[in-house]
Amino acid sequence: MLLAVTLSALAMTLIVGVRYLLVSGAFAVATRAKHPGLYRGLDAQVRREIAWSLASAAIYGIPAGVLAWGWQAHGWTRVYGDVHAYPLWYLPVSVALYLVLHDTWFYWTHRWMHRPAVFKAAHAVHHASRPPTAWAAMAFHPLEAVTGAVAIPLLVLVIPIHVGALGFVLAVMTVMGVTNHMGWEVFPRFMWHGPLGGWLITASHHQRHHERYGCNYGLYFRFWDRLCGTDRGVGDFARTHAQAAGRPIARPVAGPRGDAAAGGGAGAGRGADRAA
Ligand SMILES: [Zn+2]
Ligand SMILES: [Zn+2]
Repeated sequence: MLLAVTLSALAMTLIVGVRYLLVSGAFAVATRAKHPGLYRGLDAQVRREIAWSLASAAIYGIPAGVLAWGWQAHGWTRVYGDVHAYPLWYLPVSVALYLVLHDTWFYWTHRWMHRPAVFKAAHAVHHASRPPTAWAAMAFHPLEAVTGAVAIPLLVLVIPIHVGALGFVLAVMTVMGVTNHMGWEVFPRFMWHGPLGGWLITASHHQRHHERYGCNYGLYFRFWDRLCGTDRGVGDFARTHAQAAGRPIARPVAGPRGDAAAGGGAGAGRGADRAA
């Protein structure tokens, strides 16, 4: 039994680690094609991001592996394999439920991570990436990785979800984790501008968290940020992209809500060390 649990934890760590390397690697290659030079001079930082991320892979993989074993051996979780075990309408509902609850968990633990003592002890590792790259998706201090690693395992113990729907949730989690740190928008404009963009989080939103710290804490949705008054709109990649391309910096263009990088421009907060 101990051997089976250990093997399951090892297998899951390997899956999480390889998934990270493949997805981050793919988006890093895409970044080189789309914005050559965007990660110029960041080699040492990228190496650190990869090392922290692979350590996080073990912290994510162990509880996931134990639960995967418990699911197979003892039916511990509420993950189901027969798609007709629940009505079909429940499939999208379960996905939405998981994303909303994961986002809620992330928002509040992330705010806690920005308390000065916790920031210094743990979350500073993630914010050491200035600016983050596609490799920063899981660059967390072990304490932060633990708070992240328990979210989905806790949910699968309580809320029924089809194994395919769970795979979809994990794919969304992985892709958003990478693209939010990538330094440019891969998604169509309607996802980060206009009415839908007002509620969804993509790179433009999380980039501003990495610039200004005390705002834009959410993971997938802007609901909690807007409710709690911590939403500071979306950033603008014009400055970093112009720097990467070696062109003079263009004036930032104001967005529909007038919230584009006003005054100091994108990157104004970079280098600042505010932890609150
Ligand atoms: Zn981040
Ligand atoms: Zn943060």
